[in-house]
Amino acid sequence: MNFEQLKTLSSSRYLSLSDDQIEQFKTYASLLKEWNEKINLTTIVEEEEVIEKHFYDCLLLAKDFDFAWKSIADMGTGAGFPGLVLAIAFPSAKVTLIDATAKKFKFLQDVIDHLQIKNVILKCGRVEDMKKERESFEVVTCRGFSALPTIVEVGSPLTKINGTLIAMKSVKASEEMSSASNAITKMGLKLSFNQKCELPSGEKRNNIFFKKVEHTQRRYPRPWAEIISKPL
Ligand code: SAH
Repeated sequence: MNFEQLKTLSSSRYLSLSDDQIEQFKTYASLLKEWNEKINLTTIVEEEEVIEKHFYDCLLLAKDFDFAWKSIADMGTGAGFPGLVLAIAFPSAKVTLIDATAKKFKFLQDVIDHLQIKNVILKCGRVEDMKKERESFEVVTCRGFSALPTIVEVGSPLTKINGTLIAMKSVKASEEMSSASNAITKMGLKLSFNQKCELPSGEKRNNIFFKKVEHTQRRYPRPWAEIISKPL
């Protein structure tokens, strides 16, 4: 996929990207390639693939959800997926990118400086330790972050009541839903909808959207070791 196709595909249906935004994505892709030679950010670096498997993949979320004006937290953002992509596509949104690995922030800061983006906050640390931000985001996203019970346990506490938690998943989504059913109820979430779609190459995506319907009990999230060793 090239940038022209990205623009056509996204503007034809659900999102209208300006020439300036396309330029921002071009700069983002070239910085990703450059930085990936120094630090390991992604296995996908060829431009055509970056456009499809990173940018287009993340923008698919906007097909069924409006991110404009929302406060968004992206857990385990890595090289900015999907948070930074959403920040570029929705300049009115306010996006907090969270990751435990400090070196990724040097890259993210460089992209932000080059693109002169004003709607992004960088937060280096562990998601489960973010006590101050409890129930403060309208939308919480993640891709490639963890298994669904973990996503639910650490993501729900950050999400506001009536807010949305989005887990970007693929072909295993329905098995993951079964394994997370207890966690989903305990953490006050309700399935809102499953977004099933395909990338132009045919790869399947199944993104899960939850609505937060009840406050999270204070004892969650538990320490990470416990979350992993004793899933809810
Ligand atoms: N979302 C990106 C990166 C996925 S890799 C993408 O789709 O390409 C998972 C990322 O989550 C890594 O960058 C890792 O540092 C981060 N991570 C894992 N556990 C975390 C935690 N408990 N808190 C914050 N970040 C975490």
